[in-house]
Amino acid sequence: MDLIHCIYQAGLIGEGGAGFPTFVKLGAQADNLLVNAAECEPLLFTDQYIMEHYAHDIVRALELCRKQVQAKRTVIAIKHKYEKQIAALKEAIAHYEAPIELHEMESFYPAGDEQSIIYDVIRDPLPPASLPKDKSTLVLNVGTLRDIWRSTQGLPFTRKIVTVNGDIRKPSLLEVPIGTSVAQCIAWCGGTDLDRYVVILGGPMMGRMIDQDEIGSEVITKTVGGLLVLPYDHPLAVRRRKPIERIRSEARAACIQCNFCTELCPRYLKGHPLHPHEVMRAFALNDPDHPLLAQASLCCECGICELYSCPMGLSPRRVNAYLRIELRRRRVKMPAFQSEGVHSEEDVRRIPTDRMVMKTDLTKWYVRHDFPFESHEADEVRIPLRQGVGGAATAVVKVGDKVEENDLIADLPETSLGARMHASISGTVLSVDESSITISKKG
Ligand code: SF4
Ligand code: SF4
Repeated sequence: MDLIHCIYQAGLIGEGGAGFPTFVKLGAQADNLLVNAAECEPLLFTDQYIMEHYAHDIVRALELCRKQVQAKRTVIAIKHKYEKQIAALKEAIAHYEAPIELHEMESFYPAGDEQSIIYDVIRDPLPPASLPKDKSTLVLNVGTLRDIWRSTQGLPFTRKIVTVNGDIRKPSLLEVPIGTSVAQCIAWCGGTDLDRYVVILGGPMMGRMIDQDEIGSEVITKTVGGLLVLPYDHPLAVRRRKPIERIRSEARAACIQCNFCTELCPRYLKGHPLHPHEVMRAFALNDPDHPLLAQASLCCECGICELYSCPMGLSPRRVNAYLRIELRRRRVKMPAFQSEGVHSEEDVRRIPTDRMVMKTDLTKWYVRHDFPFESHEADEVRIPLRQGVGGAATAVVKVGDKVEENDLIADLPETSLGARMHASISGTVLSVDESSITISKKG
């Protein structure tokens, strides 16, 4: 079976971002094949664990991908502080005599942003609003590569390694079936002593926050790499709960147009015409047709502007995120954005990860130590039929069916954008609806 078909059959989607189907990504040629090994979200150790323990799988998969896309250059971009991981990858590269370069980076945020990593490696910035393929470049995440190798061994994508960190009794790395509830993962880590808390799915900077009462219904999907338990009144949680109209009032009353949000914005520094201070000014005017608002579509929502730069505690990132949805909803035609050229101080204005952690009040949980690794089985899983970019898969099982782990439970033609789903545990199908399938061992 060819590589693309193996990947399609296994239901792989990108594990480090929006969940773009991997078989579609690998369907085009690319001169540059880059591996995003930066793991730039502080407090997550998932990719570091995978690199240290699955370096051979990563390199073997990368070799297959290199041949598939006919890459002229294959590069793993990794922070130089990940010493054990670099040693493991170097050993694997030498073992397979693979023509793969290691590109070592400083520890800055957001080193793993696709635009940042491409610029860091090929020193040729992506134009505003363009995609890596526009520079003949393909970026893959280390977790995705591990699962690409597994797909060539006939194994579908049914298990996920996640970091569980924050205010819990036993911060850990867990390998769990896809569809396991967030509450169960927290329980496996000893729970928390907090009476009131929130959970961030993903990293603290860009992850999605859910409330305590949602943890029983939220599940680990193919794109979740971490869970972070934070006190309900942690500054990150307070900021995310703020209503958008309150943010507008604050922008009107308190934005001093100091420009700091723009001066440290990684997209602006790469030459993109994104000036968050202008967006804030226009947003405060409450005119949805203001021409400056379109810039918001260039924002990657890294959060530097609001978590690091703004001296007034304002939220340009939240404003941009809100506007991006509004611009799409209203089908506003985007202008032809022109690059302003890479800023001469782009390199020196990068935000050290340690400083970012201090500013966001996360130091307590940033201490790197060897988290225990545990592999768990779940008694029940709820598997969403759509877990990334593209359409939902169609269920091919019905209530009462017995399924074995790895069986196909929801399908999607190879001509579609999306991913197939497989049973992540053996058991009985408890429910099937248009959004998910629930399987229980108890049946
Ligand atoms: S940094 Fe804050 S106060 Fe300064 S321009 Fe940006 S949003 Fe306004
Ligand atoms: S979140 Fe802020 S700093 Fe990050 S890209 Fe958007 S505007 Fe720039």
